[in-house]
Amino acid sequence: MLDYDLHCHSSISDGTLAPAEVVNRAAERGVKVLALTDHDDLDGLDEARAAAAQRGMIFINGVEISVSWRIHTLHVVGLGIDPAYPPLAEGLRGVRSGRGNRAEKMAEALAKVGIGGVLQGAYRYAGNPNMIGRAHFARYLVEAGHFRDVRSVFNRYLAKGKPGYVPHQWAALADAVGWIRGSGGVAVLAHPGRYMCGNKSMGKQTMREMLAEFFACGGQAIEVVSGSHTAEQYAEFARYAAEFDLLCSCGSDFHGPGESHRDLGRLPDFPPGCRPVWEAKPLKPIFENIPSSPAHNAVAGHAEEGN
Ligand code: AMP
Ligand code: MN
Ligand code: MN
Ligand code: MN
Repeated sequence: MLDYDLHCHSSISDGTLAPAEVVNRAAERGVKVLALTDHDDLDGLDEARAAAAQRGMIFINGVEISVSWRIHTLHVVGLGIDPAYPPLAEGLRGVRSGRGNRAEKMAEALAKVGIGGVLQGAYRYAGNPNMIGRAHFARYLVEAGHFRDVRSVFNRYLAKGKPGYVPHQWAALADAVGWIRGSGGVAVLAHPGRYMCGNKSMGKQTMREMLAEFFACGGQAIEVVSGSHTAEQYAEFARYAAEFDLLCSCGSDFHGPGESHRDLGRLPDFPPGCRPVWEAKPLKPIFENIPSSPAHNAVAGHAEEGN
């Protein structure tokens, strides 16, 4: 079984390692196929791809787009995208553009509950100031001694409904999927289990409506094995994938050593019956065009099984 990790972050968004450092860590941990999927930004892909080539690793251009759907924030991962496709690049520029203003509002909201002067500190943690986000605030609040770890900051102040949470309008679902598909990529719903837990989470009926809409506008896969899921959720979302005729993806959602629930790679296998996302047409050539790659034979095997 090849080691695939199709969801992780670098300091171009809210990871703590530079893109090449993410790739090197993945290689050291045995990952053979890696997608870097920074939030709303493609600037880490060139560096990561070059590092992956040096390591003999198969690299997939990725992104994780922030989406507003009804009252929920969803994340849609694009795999095998073309970073030069203008609607994608321009769409993401639009998604990023509200982050500075949102950060100011977050700092004001935190000041109102007695935690003042955090904006500058949060920006110090943002490797890419255009992508300032909640994780940077959380890291600064830990450094400033307010909390033991990032998770506690989210639970107390930054999660939906908490005092430092500022609602925000991200991309529309159909737009995000359209930019990904238009650029030649595969649209994958990220960590669906996360939308069903916590404050104002969606119930099963809403999850079904969302998956139907995702599929109808061109979504092709959902993450089944995710660093955000429990083992029970692997099985649960494998069933949703079968019900909605969606392929299955896997990724750690790694953000940095010591912070993420799961490190890069070494993810558990899919539950039985899952059709992996690398069987999607747009991803096949990435493997088939690299005949010397260790993945070639294995992936050709998968393709035949799927036919
Ligand atoms: P933003 O795009 O600025 O709203 O930030 C979203 C990011 O915050 C996610 O991608 C995670 O990296 C992080 N995050 C969200 N919820 C939590 C949580 N409960 N614990 C730790 N990190 C979280
Ligand atoms: Mn993140
Ligand atoms: Mn996410
Ligand atoms: Mn992520």
